[in-house]
Amino acid sequence: MTVYRPPARKRLTQDERRAVYERCNGHCAYCGFELETMHQLHVDHVIPMEFYELYEVEGYDLDSMDNFLPACCSCNIYKHTYRLEKFRAAIERMPDVLQRDAATFRHAVRFGMVEIKQHPVVFYFEATGVDVPSLHWDAEIEKKYRTGEQK
Ligand SMILES: [Zn+2]
Repeated sequence: MTVYRPPARKRLTQDERRAVYERCNGHCAYCGFELETMHQLHVDHVIPMEFYELYEVEGYDLDSMDNFLPACCSCNIYKHTYRLEKFRAAIERMPDVLQRDAATFRHAVRFGMVEIKQHPVVFYFEATGVDVPSLHWDAEIEKKYRTGEQK
C-alpha cells in the first residue's frame, strides 16, 4: 500500500513573502492582529496541504500564491490542518472549552470579570473583502461533483 504524502512545501522568495504580507495590509487574515514586521508573518495554506492530491487532480496547486494568506503565529498554530469552516467552528467553541477546562476562567466569569459574548466569527480577510482564489476552487469542485460531470 502506498501512503500519499504531499510534496515538500515550496520555499517562498522574499518578494512572495512580501506579497503575502501585503495581502491583508500587514494584518493576520484571520484575527486581524497587526503583524508589525515580516518576521511575524506566518504563511498559511488556506486549504491545507493534506488535500493537495485531490486539488492537483483538478488542476489546482495548493502550494501557490492563490492559496496563501498571512497569519499570526497563534492563528497559524491553532488552524494547523483545519479547513476554514472547521477553524471557524473551533474558535466559536472557545468559550465552551474555556468554561470546561479553565477554572480561573470560570471563576472570572462568576465574578463578572470576564463576559462571554458568543457570536459568529467573521475572519479579517472576509470583513475587509480580500479575495482568496483557492476558496473559489472549492465551489468549482463541489459544483462539478454534485452535477456528476466527469473530466
Ligand atoms: Zn491571527
